[in-house]
Order: sequence, then C-alpha cells, then structure tokens
Amino acid sequence: MLRLNDYECPKCGFKDEYLLHEHEVKLCPEDGEKMKRLPPVFRINMGPVPLAGYYDDNLQSFVRSNTHRKELMERQGVTEKGATPKKGQAWI
Ligand SMILES: [Zn+2]
Repeated sequence: MLRLNDYECPKCGFKDEYLLHEHEVKLCPEDGEKMKRLPPVFRINMGPVPLAGYYDDNLQSFVRSNTHRKELMERQGVTEKGATPKKGQAWI
C-alpha cells in the first residue's frame, strides 16, 4: 500500500514527504543515510461512531463501531491523539 509519509534523516535532520510503500526504505538525498519514517499525522473525526457506521475518508474504510475503528487504525499504524495505544485494549 502506498502512503504519503514524512521522513527524517537521523544524521543530518533532512526532512521531506515521500509517497512510498509501507516497508520501503528511503535514503537521505544529502548523505545516503537511511531515513526514519515519522508517525503519520491524520486528521480523524474523534466523535462517536454513528450506530449505522460511517465511511471514514482517512482510514479509507467503512467503520462499524468504535472497536472496529480502533482495529482499522491499529492495522494502519494510526493512533488517536491523546489516547495511549495499548495492544489488546479496546474501548467498547
Ligand atoms: Zn542526511
């Protein structure tokens, strides 16, 4: 899956956005160092999920419940602002 992410070079601090596959490695154009992928910044609607579910543009999936949204977000490596992501923990 292609995603647009921010990458930062740990050596010289060069930062840019690249559209890459999730596990692709980006080398710094300045010094060839392996760049570090920064956590994605998503603008996600954090309100309660409507009973019938809704289509979430950011997650690009139909969301059926809070738990389902949590699963989708975990699968996509997205965490909520202010929430502490813990494996195996879900709000219902
Ligand atoms: Zn660099």
